[in-house]
Amino acid sequence: MLKLAENALVLYPANSESQAPLADFMRLLQELQLLGAAFEAQQGTAYLPGATFAQHLSFMGCAPAIDSALPSAGASTTNFYSLRCISSATLEFLGNQATRAPRCPHCNSFLPDWENQLAGWQQQAAPLFLCPGCAQTSPPWAWHWRKRGGFARTALWIHGVFEGEAIPGQSLLQALKNLTQSDWQYGFRVGF
Ligand SMILES: [Zn+2]
Repeated sequence: MLKLAENALVLYPANSESQAPLADFMRLLQELQLLGAAFEAQQGTAYLPGATFAQHLSFMGCAPAIDSALPSAGASTTNFYSLRCISSATLEFLGNQATRAPRCPHCNSFLPDWENQLAGWQQQAAPLFLCPGCAQTSPPWAWHWRKRGGFARTALWIHGVFEGEAIPGQSLLQALKNLTQSDWQYGFRVGF
């Protein structure tokens, strides 16, 4: 089964408490014609880019090459665009090993051992991150993840986008804001 690219653009609500029912989220993306044909990937159900994909994203370089068919078995997927929609009651960490150390919301110190503290949070052993700079504790989603991390219950993943290659257009961000009645932001997951 196809493994989608690790590198991705991810759109998610700025407020980690914000969430949309999956059916409403899917309906919006279908209405926007952002989603093409569905297929099953290792990461779950994914979609080929829909008719308006290139209009809803702003690509930095030359016009993107958008595939309308799945890559052949064994081919690289790092340049293959595909979309995935997530909405669940559980807060999901959006980063990976390439995520940079977040900064403290109180004193702006880096948190070098964020991976250990994240593991503590995921195991429900330690719900707060302890800052080495000011000794204050804060929930993981309050830290500044600098566009390579963050947390969300509802998220739109666009696999195959490299960091900085494309950003969401204002019309897409506005449509998502209307869905959850809250601002959305975006970040990148980088391959490793
Ligand atoms: Zn601090």
